[in-house]
Amino acid sequence: MKKILFVSLLFTSTAFANLHLAPPDFDTKTGRAIFVDFKTAKYDITYNVLWKKTKVKSTIKFFSDKEGSPVFDLIPNPKNVKIDGNPVSVLDEVLPDGTPIRKLDAVVSQGEHTLEMESSFSENVRYNLFSKTVSSAFWIRDLKNRMFLEQYVPSNFEFDQYQIKLNLKFAGTKKAKQDIYTNGKVVSTSPNSFEVTFPEYFTVSCPYLHITPKGQKKRIDFTYKSIDGRSLPVTVYTSWWSTPKKFKNEAEKIFKELEADYGPWGHDGLVAYETFPGTGGMEHAAATQTSLAALDHEMLHSYFAKGVMPANGNSGWIDEAIASWRDYGYQRKPLPVFAGSNLGKGSAYKRNTDSRAYALGREFMAYLDYRFQDMGGLKAFLRGYFQAYKHTVITQEHFKNNLEFFSGLDLTEAFNTYIWGENSPESKDLGVEEETHKALTDSERQLIL
Ligand SMILES: [Zn+2]
Repeated sequence: MKKILFVSLLFTSTAFANLHLAPPDFDTKTGRAIFVDFKTAKYDITYNVLWKKTKVKSTIKFFSDKEGSPVFDLIPNPKNVKIDGNPVSVLDEVLPDGTPIRKLDAVVSQGEHTLEMESSFSENVRYNLFSKTVSSAFWIRDLKNRMFLEQYVPSNFEFDQYQIKLNLKFAGTKKAKQDIYTNGKVVSTSPNSFEVTFPEYFTVSCPYLHITPKGQKKRIDFTYKSIDGRSLPVTVYTSWWSTPKKFKNEAEKIFKELEADYGPWGHDGLVAYETFPGTGGMEHAAATQTSLAALDHEMLHSYFAKGVMPANGNSGWIDEAIASWRDYGYQRKPLPVFAGSNLGKGSAYKRNTDSRAYALGREFMAYLDYRFQDMGGLKAFLRGYFQAYKHTVITQEHFKNNLEFFSGLDLTEAFNTYIWGENSPESKDLGVEEETHKALTDSERQLIL
């Protein structure tokens, strides 16, 4: 542990200051670990198509509300790490629940600081030496730990919202022969470099980036007229075994349904990539890689998951519960089929979603819908909840408080039984991963890359 205290020079704005949603700070053998508030993260990513090497230089500006050693996450090993311009080491640390993270071997003061580092990544990257191109995707998973942006670049945790910018450079070629599919804004800055800027409300599970050799995928670009009058740019794309026309038709149908139920689409457009039939999908904000059959489920997540966003793994059941409740036809039931569960009672540091969120969650939603039948049902609540809290990060306690405010009911017993209770025998059998999130195998991921 370095005894140097890095003192901040200036204070910063409070936009998206989500530190109140961070898990509790904690003590480690190497000092007090603190969660910090990322303000901006700039990643200069160089894909060298000749040397087949990927390099990242990261510059992160963050705010610390107290003195301590900041934690963050990055799966690849960082090097040449600097805090406020001074070299510093990074320690492998674990959260109190045992999940690995990274911690700076330095103490920072309250205030704003700059963290810089270099790294590389190989996850979902494939170079094509013959054509001097690269395929690279920032795909994520939410049912397992450490599978958000930290697989690729140094990142904060899901509670935080910050401006992410990528400077992509394709070295080893004068002119990049690449397509970039993303939910960020792309600007070409030279014949072989691009700047991608993501919206400030994004968390580490929101950005979508898929870089492919130019013309490799079949795509349709079109606009969808939102019920609020906006013309939303939509890109649907597929690989050689399919056609994007089916995806376009399905997307238009689902837009109509979701906007009628929950109000105007909460994002600037949509990017959807069709993967294999019989597999599931994964949602990003207004972006998804998914089978055709799961497109509706993943688009619903642009309302709940990436419109109203969970602060942590313990709150991750809410959006799967809503999506699954819709998948099964918005059923109404006087009681859930299970007597109790601890679906949302994990550690305060939990980062992944319980895979029982679908089956147990939709039963709980069906039960809430029954309790809310005199107030227009649960969908009436969800519509208002989305419109009030879109682009914000929420917890399950916030969800409960708002359900109670809407209905006038005390739901403490219901939550204490079905969400924060004990697992009844049948609740354990309902833990299977649903079709809609059935993971692609490694070889399937290689094929769609
Ligand atoms: Zn889902």
